[in-house]
Amino acid sequence: MSLDIEIDDRVIRQEREKSRALRKQNWWKNRIAKGVCHYCGHPVAPKDLTLDHIVPLARGGRTTKGNCVPACKDCNNQKKNLLPLEWEGYLQHLQEQ
Ligand SMILES: [Zn+2]
Repeated sequence: MSLDIEIDDRVIRQEREKSRALRKQNWWKNRIAKGVCHYCGHPVAPKDLTLDHIVPLARGGRTTKGNCVPACKDCNNQKKNLLPLEWEGYLQHLQEQ
């Protein structure tokens, strides 16, 4: 996948709207009720879980159930701050623990 695909601002806004709607659905409420971060697997209070796009919107990801997972704030921040390759390294590191 090319990293320099241009994503329309309007598309990103629409997808963010969809995330807001998705967070109100029972599907999402059931997911966070389990209280587990998708990435690190740590127990997290449902109110501290955020909706994360596995493939970020800025890289062409969309707000679908398959692309949205509950993530703790730590993982969410890591994901924002790391390059895709570094993020993969982070996930691998988690699995080795
Ligand atoms: Zn986590």
